Amino acid sequence: MRVELLCTGDELVTGLTPDTNSPFLEARLFALGIKVERVVLVGDVREDITRGLEEAAARADVVIVSGGLGPTADDFTAECAAAAARVPLVEDAATREALAERARKRGRELTPNVARMALVPQGAEVVPNPVGAAPLFIVRLGDCQLFFLPGVPREYRALVDGEVLPRVRAELERRPGRVWRAFRLLRTVGLPESVLDARVAPLAVAHPRVVFGFRTHAPENQLKLMAEAPSQAEADAALAAAEAAARAELGPAVYGADEDTYAAVLARRLTDAGATLALAESCTGGLVASQLAAIPGASAFLVGSAVVYAERMKTAWAHVSPELLARHGAVSRPVAVAMAEGIRAACATTYGLSVTGVAGPTGGTPEEPVGSVYCALAVEGGPTRSERFSLSGDRELIRLFAASHALELLREHLLSSASRP
Ligand code: ATP
Ligand code: MG
Repeated sequence: MRVELLCTGDELVTGLTPDTNSPFLEARLFALGIKVERVVLVGDVREDITRGLEEAAARADVVIVSGGLGPTADDFTAECAAAAARVPLVEDAATREALAERARKRGRELTPNVARMALVPQGAEVVPNPVGAAPLFIVRLGDCQLFFLPGVPREYRALVDGEVLPRVRAELERRPGRVWRAFRLLRTVGLPESVLDARVAPLAVAHPRVVFGFRTHAPENQLKLMAEAPSQAEADAALAAAEAAARAELGPAVYGADEDTYAAVLARRLTDAGATLALAESCTGGLVASQLAAIPGASAFLVGSAVVYAERMKTAWAHVSPELLARHGAVSRPVAVAMAEGIRAACATTYGLSVTGVAGPTGGTPEEPVGSVYCALAVEGGPTRSERFSLSGDRELIRLFAASHALELLREHLLSSASRP
């Protein structure tokens, strides 16, 4: 089934409002096994919208249109739909009554502007909007079915889930030769995309029913698995086999799947272990703390965090001795270790985690160029671990990866202590 999306509105083509309706619907359709073929954005120009509708209807089986159904002067999608279908606009009595009722409830008159929302192309199927004023209407143009939805994301989503998707699914089930699909997103950290690709390549050959795809979303690299088969059971089985093989190949680099987030997975491990954590952050400036604090229930493990940017604050809050700082410099392994141990002792936690580095673009030295980062993990009753990283990218990327490497030090420790008898 060929599906296209058409979104209208000057705000979408002038950089004012990013189109968020399309990604929402694309994901919903993809879960049904439909890959959208084309997404078109059109400004508020009558001829462009009308032509956009005609062209999309000539190519696709289903077109889903968003925006321009409201009461303002720049809302004329219904007019364009009528023009494309070569029918007049007519008033839908039930919609007019619903609009009048809405106005009455708000103590207002039904103004001519608002009443315009009851005008639909003749012959259209009209479906009430449960969360707004402008209804959904459905128009046939040749072999193509066009759905017209308000652009307001809240209304768009409600109508997509409540009305559009059930109709699309029913249409899909009527069609012969249906392909069934199953999906899994495996989330990895610490493996460059090229390495991930090379390690997974042999699996793709062994699992011909599964499409292997990659996506980078710094600091993660994600492996998308999509199985296609003549029945759901076969798709599910093919996916399960490919997923098991990928997990075996990638090992602990896979931290989670689908909706998991790195911080949430780590938070769960810390909570399960009954462990507590304190942080001393220099170049990341609280990024690690912020990621962990975003998880509901973070108070179970996150005790405190110090942003120790200046050397004297590394001393004051993380108890790094001035001599050590003078001898090795703030960006050094001994200072990272002292920061982790100092903050752990100060906060009396199971773990102390530290990050210090040069985020750039200035501040690098020949020994420690921009991108040099040290992370350390102090462990109650155990040795402190530390690592040096040479990161590349701009300031934002270096800070993002520095935070991720620090957390990875902790995750690796939790994984290895969990697997110890
Ligand atoms: P309204 O009754 O609000 O006028 P409408 O159908 O006319 O509804 P628009 O006027 O096109 O919709 O847009 C209403 C609001 O929704 C605007 O704030 C607009 O920026 C936002 N919006 C429209 N289309 C999109 C989209 N594709 N993605 C995200 N926001 C959108
Ligand atoms: Mg509008």
